[in-house]
Amino acid sequence: MAVTRPSIALVDCNNFYVSCERVFNPKLNNKPVLVLSNNDGCVIARSQEVKDLGIKMGVPWFKIQTLVKHHNIVVFSSNYTLYADMSNRVMQIISHFSPNQEIYSIDECFLDLTGFQHLNLIDHGQRIRATIKQFVGLPVCVGIGASKTQAKLANHLAKKRPAFEGVCDFNTLEPEGLDRLFSEIEVGEVWGVGSRTKKRLAELSIHTVLDLKKSSPKVLRKQFSVVMERTVRELNGESCIPLEEVAPPKEQLICSRSFGAPVFSLIDLTQAVITYTTRAAEKLRQQKSVAALVYVFIETNRFKVNEPQYNNGLLVPLPEPGNDTRLLVGAALTGLKRIYKPGFAYKKAGIMLNDLSCADAKQKGLFEDAELQAHSKSLMQAIDKINGIMGSGTIKFTGEGLKKRWQAKAERKTPAYTTRIDEIPIAYAIG
Ligand SMILES: [Mg+2]
Repeated sequence: MAVTRPSIALVDCNNFYVSCERVFNPKLNNKPVLVLSNNDGCVIARSQEVKDLGIKMGVPWFKIQTLVKHHNIVVFSSNYTLYADMSNRVMQIISHFSPNQEIYSIDECFLDLTGFQHLNLIDHGQRIRATIKQFVGLPVCVGIGASKTQAKLANHLAKKRPAFEGVCDFNTLEPEGLDRLFSEIEVGEVWGVGSRTKKRLAELSIHTVLDLKKSSPKVLRKQFSVVMERTVRELNGESCIPLEEVAPPKEQLICSRSFGAPVFSLIDLTQAVITYTTRAAEKLRQQKSVAALVYVFIETNRFKVNEPQYNNGLLVPLPEPGNDTRLLVGAALTGLKRIYKPGFAYKKAGIMLNDLSCADAKQKGLFEDAELQAHSKSLMQAIDKINGIMGSGTIKFTGEGLKKRWQAKAERKTPAYTTRIDEIPIAYAIG
């Protein structure tokens, strides 16, 4: 019996954040569009038109203002509420195309299509694209190969070469044809080969994907690591990295932000710390964990060398591991009061939840009140549910404050079109 070769697909949204913005504003199609990072700091997403202008990922916003004006580039603050919701919708749709899906990042996932070959996987890939386009309005490309590393590379080609029409399946190519393609791609495009590795590979005269594919896995293992050995095997069609269908729960959760303007008072810092702790607590409950330690930290702006500097953080243990926002906020604020010093211009604050464990496996504490525990659980569930339906922050602690002077700059943010009833787009019918 012939052994079926694995068929792994990588489905990846094209210019994801920009494409999300375009869904709700089709006038932006074919126009240069970019999205800025938190606090409107630097470029984190670019439309093809912006890429063609040579604007690189990660450049600070202030450095490209003349270019932006000159080319009429449309600039947005990042709208993570929108992107996360669009991502959930896309992933949900893709999950119908295979029982095995690994969500790899906000805009890409692997699918195991082994055993689906009778469907003609290029057609299957086109159906995935058409369905997502129809239901969510986002463009995606599909790369298919015998391993995850191949799928990643196939996806790169599906995006870059119009001849593939958005779907590239390496498994349909003859070995010579595949090698020819590999010889045309530089090795830096391989999954896991960063710029430093690329330089070191160049010293070994490995410049293209084909060069790497033909290298000895054993030699590379010695020169680099077992990871590189695996990459070479994967390029040769041997699947070494299995799909991880359930993301392992995070071992620590961090929420920290730079402020939109310098912060001096304990009141403003308190608001920020409550806000960040609330966000982290939501994530903690989402992954069904409890935390035993809360770390809180504050920082001045280290780039303003002429200003007095002060950075401090404190780890606060909880009486019992938990995930009740009130408990976590209490600990964070205890820490904050102890580290706060007046007279400094603070730039950033954050909290980190540490020593996480599974909520279900939690040991009952010696002084724990079962009734209080049950009450806490149902209260948190109710808050999460209401915020889930009505939009994040519908129910919040008053301590978060109403006017958040410290809040990060997001001067060009679009509405939360899909998650807040009061921000839903309005369609006018002209009759
Ligand atoms: Mg993408």
